[in-house]
Amino acid sequence: MPIVRIERKVLQKNDDIAALNRVLLRKKRVFAINLVSSPGSGKTSLLEKTIAELKGKMNLAVIEGDVQTDLDAQRIARLNVPVVQIVTNGACHLEAKLVQDALVKIDLADIDLLIIENVGNLVCPAAYDLGEAMKVVVASTTEGDDKPLKYPAMFRNASVLIINKMDLVPYLNCRVDLLKENAMRINPGLLVFETSCSTGSGIREWSQWLLTNIG
Ligand code: MG
Ligand code: ZN
Repeated sequence: MPIVRIERKVLQKNDDIAALNRVLLRKKRVFAINLVSSPGSGKTSLLEKTIAELKGKMNLAVIEGDVQTDLDAQRIARLNVPVVQIVTNGACHLEAKLVQDALVKIDLADIDLLIIENVGNLVCPAAYDLGEAMKVVVASTTEGDDKPLKYPAMFRNASVLIINKMDLVPYLNCRVDLLKENAMRINPGLLVFETSCSTGSGIREWSQWLLTNIG
């Protein structure tokens, strides 16, 4: 099947560039996280809270991926963190080449942690390695408890699951225990954090884990 072969070639080329990114990041001692989720799960809010918690304890940089606008980069820039916006102009995922180009614009010398906020999409970002050390998937309680079963590749490829918008649980039909159970069925090795960017719950635990396990 020629179509399959072309797709494989595209992914192979992506993986080759991702490997180069990984070598560069290791050499500069930068730990890179590929932050993935569906749109509106609160990735950027989580980033803002995490940056506030880690300020002064660790040097962060951010790459923002969006289909359009630099609104998210503006939010991060307000926190005085180096940030590069990638606008994909319609593409629904980041590719290693785009990250490679963005990395040139960041002085990696004194960065400990780079967070790459991917385009909001639970499908193809799972297939595109960017050169990160790990993927962190955010699932918000407003999305229900069945997402891990519907988008297994993303949950299988992630090392950490952050269940966000915990403050809304009383108003929703989302069963957090079932969401966790579904995620663990796909990937028993997942480390799970429960957060709320409105109340701030869980942000300290997640940030503390980053501090302890990175660098
Ligand atoms: Mg965002
Ligand atoms: Zn895509």
